[in-house]
Amino acid sequence: MNSRTDRRAAGKSQGKAKGRPTTVADLRARLDRARAAGAGKDAEARARRMLAAYLDTAVAHGLSLQQAAGELARGQAAVRLGDVSRDALMQNPPRAVTEAACAEGCAFCCILQGGDGGTITEAEASRLHDALSPLAGQPDGRGWHPAACPALDPETRACRAYEARPTICRSFISTDAEACRVNAEGGAETGAGLLGSHLDYLAVHALSRDLLKGLARVPTYAMARIAQGAIDGEDRATTLDAARHKPRALEDACRDAAKAGGR
Ligand code: SF4
Ligand code: SF4
Repeated sequence: MNSRTDRRAAGKSQGKAKGRPTTVADLRARLDRARAAGAGKDAEARARRMLAAYLDTAVAHGLSLQQAAGELARGQAAVRLGDVSRDALMQNPPRAVTEAACAEGCAFCCILQGGDGGTITEAEASRLHDALSPLAGQPDGRGWHPAACPALDPETRACRAYEARPTICRSFISTDAEACRVNAEGGAETGAGLLGSHLDYLAVHALSRDLLKGLARVPTYAMARIAQGAIDGEDRATTLDAARHKPRALEDACRDAAKAGGR
């Protein structure tokens, strides 16, 4: 090729990376420019490495753009990569894990002051709704405490959606149940918080949103509203519509998790 042809070819390939993707490889080429708003540079870099490996695997397995974009948009990628990050953390568990006070029936962390209950993805919202729908109309956690998650059993205080509980519930941990009790009533005791891997999950979802700009929406939902809709007998579509966050919520969740630092 002469130099003019080289320049034209380079310009074409740059244009393709910048234009609308048509393959997973095109999406992968966009990743370096994607940002995880609110997550901070370190978490963004970790999330980018994880998402790069995820997309490389998708390319190797011949996933279509529609399949890969669907997994990213619904948050299946964020959940899986958040699990990978948590598993890595558990290889050398921090003190918050080895000295955790958490036990079944201890549910002060399921008293959801503020009403939102935390940020979850569409995959998690659908799964939680499906798990709780069969319990519609039964007594629920609000019979124990007015701000408790409806997924709770009001007698035993066990989570009735344990296998389907979202990442935020799997990530919350405490070395001091009494601090959790005080905080559930508006206190500010230390000892409880989210595992560091939670920020990775959020950052992957935020990166996915930026990556899919112009291709697909990447929503988030209020966990408490999903549980409430399911237990109150709303169908899944109505509940998801009512629980969908404003776009800003994901950035705020990333910023809060980054500020808290993780355990
Ligand atoms: S986070 Fe707190 S309230 Fe929740 S199970 Fe652990 S110790 Fe109990
Ligand atoms: S889904 Fe389960 S673990 Fe999560 S807040 Fe509700 S009752 Fe607690």
